[in-house]
Formats: sequence, C-alpha cells, structure tokens
Amino acid sequence: MRHRIAVIGGGPAGLTFARVLHRHDHPVTVLERDPAPDARPPGGTLDLHEGLGQLALGKAGLLAEFHALSRPEGQAMRILDTDGTVLRDWQPRPDDRANPEIDRGQLRDLLLGPLDVQWGRGVTEVVPGTRDGVLVHFADGRQETFDLVVGADGAWSRVRPAVSTATPHYTGITFVETSLDDVDTRHPDLARLIGDGSVAVFGVNRALVAQRNSGGHVKVYAQFRAPLDWHTNPDRHLGLNRRADLDAGLEAGLEAGLDLADVEAVRSSLLALFDGWAAPVLDLLRHGTAFAHRPLYVLPVSHTWAHVPGVTLLGDAAHLMPPLGVGANLAMLEGAELAESVAAAPGDLDEAVRAFEEQMWARAGRWAKSTAAGLERLVSPDPTEALALFDELQPS
Ligand SMILES: Cc1cc2nc3c(=O)[nH]c(=O)nc-3n(C[C@H](O)[C@H](O)[C@H](O)COP(=O)(O)OP(=O)(O)OC[C@H]3O[C@@H](n4cnc5c(N)ncnc54)[C@H](O)[C@@H]3O)c2cc1C
Repeated sequence: MRHRIAVIGGGPAGLTFARVLHRHDHPVTVLERDPAPDARPPGGTLDLHEGLGQLALGKAGLLAEFHALSRPEGQAMRILDTDGTVLRDWQPRPDDRANPEIDRGQLRDLLLGPLDVQWGRGVTEVVPGTRDGVLVHFADGRQETFDLVVGADGAWSRVRPAVSTATPHYTGITFVETSLDDVDTRHPDLARLIGDGSVAVFGVNRALVAQRNSGGHVKVYAQFRAPLDWHTNPDRHLGLNRRADLDAGLEAGLEAGLDLADVEAVRSSLLALFDGWAAPVLDLLRHGTAFAHRPLYVLPVSHTWAHVPGVTLLGDAAHLMPPLGVGANLAMLEGAELAESVAAAPGDLDEAVRAFEEQMWARAGRWAKSTAAGLERLVSPDPTEALALFDELQPS
C-alpha cells in the first residue's frame, strides 16, 4: 500500500517535493492556502545556484526547461557609491550558468506542470499521533489524515508547532519594496543604471538594491536598520552612528507617524531617509509604484527538533534565514531530496524522514550562520563591509 503523503504549501519547497515524487510515480496531495496560482503577485526574481536549486530541478527532470527560461545575464551586479560613482561592475561570461535568474512566477509554473494542487486549502493545525495517522485541520473546518505531513508552508508555518516551539524573530532590519514597470521604455536612464542584473548602493545602516526581472519589470528594495515599529513610533531611530545622520534622515515630516498604506507618505519618508544620495539612485524610489513593508524575520540559527513520526518541515518553515540568495535554493533541494528518500524507501518512511532531517539541519545550519553574518555586513554602520563581502563572494 502506498503511503498517504501531504505537503502543505505550494512554494518552491512544496512544489519541488511534489514534482520529484510525481516523477517517481508516487502520489502526493498538495494543499495550498492561496485560492489560485496567480492570486497574489509572485514576488521578485530568484537566482538558482548550480549546486542547490539547479540540482533540485535536475532531480525533477526540469533543468533544460529552466535553462530555456532563465536569464544568465541577470547575474550581472553593479555597486555604486551613494554619490553615484561606480565601485564595481561585474558581468558574467555569456556561458556562465552558476546562478541564472528566473522570475518566481515562471519557476512556479515550471514546477506546477502536471501537478494537481488543491488551491484554497489553508491549514490551521496539524496533530500527529492520532489512531489513523497525522490529522490535518483546515480553515474551512474540514479534517483529513495522512501518514506523512510535510510542512512547506513558509515563515509563519502552521505545521511547525507540531514539531517545534520555535518562532521567527525580527532581525532589526526592514525592507520596503517597490517596483518599476516597462523600465526600458518608461525609465531608460534607470534601465541603464540597473543593467541586465542588479544594482546596489550601500550607505550607513541602509542600502538600496534594484533587481531586473523579465519583461522590463524591476523590484527595488530600500533596506535599513530600524525597530519594528519605526513607522508608528515617533521616537524611532535607525541605529545610526551619528546623530546628524538621524536628523538628516528621519525627522522631517515623520513626527506624527507614517501610514504604510499612504504611497506618497512612504515615498517621501524613504527619500528623507536616503537624502543626499545621487539623484539617479533616488529616482528608483521616486518612480516606484507602490510600497510593501517587509521586516526581516529569522528562525534561530541551527533550528532543530526532536523527530516527530509522521511530520517534517522543509524550506522557510524549517530554517527561515535572511534573504541572501539561498532560501529558495535550499527549499528546493530539500524538497527534491526528501522526495527521493521517500520514493526509495517506501517500506520505512519514518527512517527515511529522520535521515533526511539530519542532513537538512546540518546544511541549513551552515547557511543560516553565513547569511546572518552576511546581513549584518550588508546593512552595516560601515558600508565598506558590504563591498568587502561582495569581493569575497563574487568571482573577479
Ligand atoms: C526580498 C527577498 C528576496 C529573496 N531572494 C532570494 C533569492 O534570490 N534566492 C533564494 O534562494 N531565495 C531568496 N529569498 C528567499 C525565498 O523567497 C524563500 O526562502 C523561499 O520562498 C522559501 O520557499 P518555501 O517554499 O519554503 O516557502 P514560501 O515560498 O513562503 O512558500 C510557502 C507556501 O505555503 C503557502 N502557505 C502558507 N501558509 C499556509 C497554510 N497555513 N496552509 C496552506 N498553505 C500555506 C503559501 O501561500 C506559499 O505558497 C528571498 C526572500 C526575500 C524576502
């Protein structure tokens, strides 16, 4: 008899897990809270690394299709000083396939393929150890049981409490995201500034990063250190080194608090925060269409748990870490590896899951440490730290 397996969440982790199981002709139920694949904007571009995300796509038999869709030129990276001086301008070789970029929506559709996802099925709770297996409660009041429930439901996982008491905590660093459309025709100067890939500008405890997606779409991230309530608390501060920075950056117009839904108010507060930076850099904010507040949360580094038969976690649900280009990659590789283990050991499912968890924890722990340290250097009191990090990681 085949095991009844459910994966909660249709993000990179859950879909890769299901797609690899599907390739091994193993049935799997995919339960996703969103009512439809395009129910909300899919988010920015992802770079998939040769030894991580691309390895996972290979296990799903999707590597050739990925290479047809992805943008190797999107690996290009330019770093500017706050006055607009170009400090680094790294271009990949034409045959460089180390970390090509792909839009999240394209990756989702690639992974979806023949999968039969059950949309609009938000899970509220998972209860292991019942007589008939692991009980899953849904937001609509229904219940189902499975032999294995895989929590791939992201940062605020509803599956995680079944195995762990850990909850994400705020890093002290916030992103405010905006975007530009049709950049090549509507903002040709910005299109040149951004190039084929990304442009980043690092200042004291703050940074601006713009990343090209396909179709002339650009995502811009204003990144800064601030308490979680920076937009409501009149006494907010940004952990800046010098009082002058604080005065110049924040106080004008912000005393009464900031309504994050008020596009113009957010824009002017960000322009105040980045005041004095080169005009073309600030144009990234001036032309942004809407602003989304994204405070960065993480799970404790090296998050593990005592194994619970019938339940496990993948991706952000297991090891939420700073967004330094590996979260989706790890999520996909874990999804692929767990699926292969399950498919190869249908008789002893629990042993396969237990061995997978040990492997996942060891690898994710290393990345959680390095991304936490990386985030501290990218949004740092000393902007030369960000440049030094780039030089350490980027091939010359
Ligand atoms: C600004 C930013 C940039 C990033 N850039 C990169 C990058 O370049 N490269 C990279 O590798 N990573 C990047 N990441 C990290 C990456 O986005 C995540 O690590 C990755 O999406 C994790 O995948 P996941 O499948 O574990 O979770 P998610 O992508 O969060 O997917 C979880 C899914 O579960 C569903 N879900 C949630 N709750 C429930 C529920 N209760 N019931 C049913 N379904 C539910 C959600 O709707 C969602 O579809 C970035 C992150 C951010 C914030």
